[in-house]
Amino acid sequence: MLIVTCIKQVPDTTQVKIDPVTNTLVREGVPFIMNPYDTHALEESLRLKDRYGFRVVAISMGPPNADVTLRKALAVGVDEVVLLSDRAFGGADTLATSKVLAEAIARLAKEDELAFVICGQQTIDGDTAQVGPGIATRMKLAQITLVDRVDSVDLTAKRAVLRRKLEGRHELVESRMPAMLTVVREINRPRYPTVPMRLAAADAPVPIWNNEVLGLDVQTIGLKGSPTKVNKIFSPQREMGEIIGDGTHDPDGTAKLLIDRMLEKDLLAL
Ligand SMILES: Cc1cc2nc3c(=O)[nH]c(=O)nc-3n(C[C@H](O)[C@H](O)[C@H](O)COP(=O)(O)OP(=O)(O)OC[C@H]3O[C@@H](n4cnc5c(N)ncnc54)[C@H](O)[C@@H]3O)c2cc1C
Repeated sequence: MLIVTCIKQVPDTTQVKIDPVTNTLVREGVPFIMNPYDTHALEESLRLKDRYGFRVVAISMGPPNADVTLRKALAVGVDEVVLLSDRAFGGADTLATSKVLAEAIARLAKEDELAFVICGQQTIDGDTAQVGPGIATRMKLAQITLVDRVDSVDLTAKRAVLRRKLEGRHELVESRMPAMLTVVREINRPRYPTVPMRLAAADAPVPIWNNEVLGLDVQTIGLKGSPTKVNKIFSPQREMGEIIGDGTHDPDGTAKLLIDRMLEKDLLAL
């Protein structure tokens, strides 16, 4: 049985800059990394492979250089990778992204029975957390988001018991399979690749599926198939703080000034 792990290559956002004129991300010279949440999706797929013998295929939709990220997946032990890359896929919002990913997964599922699609909770650039549920909806899979533990998988009954991490509580869910899971960081600690595996991955072929392979209507993918338009991207601007009083010589006066200022701003009711 098959697990498909979805991995996005993202700019290392601790170093991302925004072009103030075009409102787009400045990508030149920015290092790319595997989306951190997806390292946990990958690790969980590999742990399930170790426990139950699944075949794991990692897929990514992105530019040709996303092969670097897929090689990292090969280096930690996935069986196969597929890069979905075509100019026609570019500029996709979550609707168009999940369409391409779902089509590729359906193709893989023709060769091997699908058990799980595993995604990260969200990405660190787009941050929408919509792609996993988008894939599940298109493929009519059960969808279990925010998973922090896979308790058990019954391959005969095709049912899995999973734990979801919600605010202040956990939820235990029994799901049918195949299911799409999105995982939170707390689910595991990703393994490191060994040097021989990393060397082998560096030379391994990364198959590319373009739209000639997937055969999707170009009006439904990429920019043309994306109803969402990002109008503006900006860094949050905070107002300069104000220092009230000198803090040592007149505490009563400073407190009065502070109260007056809060009343002015309607932050305090007397
Ligand atoms: C700053 C910024 C803002 C954006 N805002 C929006 C917006 O508001 N609405 C919108 O529709 N699009 C938006 N986009 C576009 C968005 O990045 C793409 O649609 C993207 O391909 C998927 O959305 P996401 O990054 O939010 O993924 P999420 O839905 O947060 O990703 C969840 C999981 O899905 C999987 N996944 C996501 N993308 C891929 C991929 N390309 N290949 C393989 N697996 C993947 C990963 O497992 C990931 O952990 C924005 C992009 C940027 C850079």
